[in-house]
Amino acid sequence: MLGAACVLGLAVACGRAAPTPASAPVYELRNGRWLGADGFSAGTRYTAGGRITTRRPARVDSVIDLQGRWVVPPFGEAHNHNVDYSTPGRTDSLIARYLRDGVFYAKNPGNLPRGRDSLQGRVNVPRGVDAVFANGLLTASGGHPTGLYLRNLSRGAMTAADGDGGFLWVIDSVPDLRRKWPRILAGRPDFIKTVLVHSEEFERRRNDTTFFNWRGLDPSLLPQIVRRAHASGLRVSTHVETAADFHAAVAAGVDEINHIPGFRGDEHVQLPDPVPYQVAPEDARLAAERGTWVITTLGGAAGFDPTGPDSVRRRQFDRLATHNLRVLTHAGVRLAVGSDAYRDDSVGEVRYLATLGVFDAMDLLRLWSQATPRAIFPNRRVGCLEDGCEASLLVLAGDPSADFANTGRITLRMKQGWLLR
Ligand SMILES: [Zn+2]
Repeated sequence: MLGAACVLGLAVACGRAAPTPASAPVYELRNGRWLGADGFSAGTRYTAGGRITTRRPARVDSVIDLQGRWVVPPFGEAHNHNVDYSTPGRTDSLIARYLRDGVFYAKNPGNLPRGRDSLQGRVNVPRGVDAVFANGLLTASGGHPTGLYLRNLSRGAMTAADGDGGFLWVIDSVPDLRRKWPRILAGRPDFIKTVLVHSEEFERRRNDTTFFNWRGLDPSLLPQIVRRAHASGLRVSTHVETAADFHAAVAAGVDEINHIPGFRGDEHVQLPDPVPYQVAPEDARLAAERGTWVITTLGGAAGFDPTGPDSVRRRQFDRLATHNLRVLTHAGVRLAVGSDAYRDDSVGEVRYLATLGVFDAMDLLRLWSQATPRAIFPNRRVGCLEDGCEASLLVLAGDPSADFANTGRITLRMKQGWLLR
């Protein structure tokens, strides 16, 4: 019997030998409107060896008439912990959902290393989602997300061995870092995830039980972590809560900031005073200058009904998000879409961003289909449809720059030269 995953072409679910980009058929994709630097332009492109080319190859296996439809690069999800292994059925249906939504690239900034091993053959194959993994997060004793680990431990979803050295690395000092670093590297992370939480109050919070799970690394350790990671060719992402964390992360030279300050408010998910969360224009300028990526994860606010009892809170979150996005875009900071929403991919996040009025439909399209894939795979030719780019694309039934909802009307999916449906 063919399950949903098999219809979408997941190699593992279908029990077929995994295809490679090089062995993909040669397609002529005729009569499309292709997203490029100047908007959409009409024409024909080919895919050969898993790449896009504008020159007709000597042999074409199949011609597809796109009938004037809109072609965009697949979307990205730059922050989600759900790209992980649970059971074969749940994992395959999750991957099928990502592919159905056109989200082909994912970044998992904190995962159980043993879960990642079980994803072999399901991700980073032409017919699966391409994903990168941080493995365990570097944090302080009692730092975020120790609470999550303990919850999972009590539920039996994690074991004692999944604590320090598994889902987490407890780094309270330079000697801790020196001692644990070789083991961190031995787990072969794709990048390093670090955690800052109210670093402006680091001393006050470090030994106060009130702030259990609401503290992070000593900010003075961050530059040393960055130095070690860069020396090993690894990029560094940093969880932030406040504008001070944002400042410390940019100053330390991290490559990516996870979350826009104030994304979840305080310990009670409230925003009594937005000022500590407002990104300073000079920090935004420095982030732009250094090419630091900032991942949004703002869509949690969509859970507050703008017309219900939470309407005041919703407006506070919307106002702060709008303010910070304007400061960041005005400075030219590289933004990418990430949701941190365990039950979703990045569809809900981008929908929430659309409500803020900061971006028009074309801005959002570029953010989701061009910038986000590049944030996840900075060394690959993804997020583009030009000569030499990976032959991964979505065909849309309507113009997404006229109505962003057309990003949900996907009529054809191709990944690395392989048709998914
Ligand atoms: Zn996260």
